[in-house]
Amino acid sequence: MSVIVLVEHTGGIIKKQSFEAVQYAAQIAPKMGTTVTAVALGSVTEAEMENLGQYGAQKVLHVADGRLDELHSRAYASALIAAAQKENSKVVVALHDIRGRAVAPRIAVKLKAGLVAGALSYPDTEKGFVIKKAVFSGKAFAYVNILSDVKVIMLMPNTFPPQKQEGKAVVEQLDVSFSEKDFSVKVKSVNKVTGEVPLADAELVVSGGRGLKGPENWGILEDLAKELGAATACSRPVADSHWRPHHEHVGQTGGTVRPNLYIAVGISGAIQHLAGVNGSKTIVVINKDPEAPFFKAANYGVVGDALEVLPRLTAAVKKF
Ligand code: FAD
Repeated sequence: MSVIVLVEHTGGIIKKQSFEAVQYAAQIAPKMGTTVTAVALGSVTEAEMENLGQYGAQKVLHVADGRLDELHSRAYASALIAAAQKENSKVVVALHDIRGRAVAPRIAVKLKAGLVAGALSYPDTEKGFVIKKAVFSGKAFAYVNILSDVKVIMLMPNTFPPQKQEGKAVVEQLDVSFSEKDFSVKVKSVNKVTGEVPLADAELVVSGGRGLKGPENWGILEDLAKELGAATACSRPVADSHWRPHHEHVGQTGGTVRPNLYIAVGISGAIQHLAGVNGSKTIVVINKDPEAPFFKAANYGVVGDALEVLPRLTAAVKKF
């Protein structure tokens, strides 16, 4: 009756946020008198999977079908459901990210489970199964009690930093009989981003808005990001105007980041933007308008022209 966790990987390397999800499940499992089984899909090495023991997984069920290297949400859901049924699981944990959002609701429907998206706390089992989550674009919190027998939790990434301990998980193969429908969506092309810090995993993010005036000015933002070892992000109008690629767009309708440091340059701080970044540990805002709403959410602020401030900041960082 273990707690099962969907583990994600990039090219066979398990994502840091999946260690977090496994560790999160390992905090819940003892309260339910059970253990953690991670589920790895596609081409992942035995050693990578065994390492999940360092974050609290006793077992890994590996569905080794190479087609699962790409996201096929139906097939992922079928694999997770097969794992949940095999383990007689009452709790399924996935990340609140692109894969989790594509898969977890399907699992919840199939298993007739209540689902909490964007979980920010461990379930309070003394009050039932109560989990904290952000609502109204992060303006308020809700405490949601899952009443169903089976429960699905989508954990907000970067909420509980993973900490490695001793341990080695046992890896078992799981055979799943997929149907043709499971792979009915074909991936026609994949744009691989190389040589950059992936946004979802980044601990430092430098993000630009319309205040940068145009794509020709992005070089000075990239210089700062490079100097800091940070990922770059942007507001939605910037991506909509094709100044930057869409995968960099953060906010309510884009990605969610929770880095240690988020530097917002020429971004007004609309609620829809804040929804994707207000979990950042420290926020620095650079804006020429002292009344820009983003300053209310900032830990530090610089009132000034981004085109002047950015090169000076980069030069200052270079001195360290
Ligand atoms: P602007 O609002 O134009 O702000 C530019 C800022 O730059 C201003 O504060 C200005 O003072 C400053 N500035 C100008 N020149 C300079 C300079 N030289 N130096 C320094 N500062 C300067 N937005 C998102 O970002 N993400 C989302 O996911 C998202 N989802 C949305 C969903 C819905 C349903 C809706 C309705 C809107 C959504 N938006 C989203 C849009 C959002 O409401 C804002 O319009 C958007 O975030 C504004 O982008 P911006 O701050 O880059 O541009």
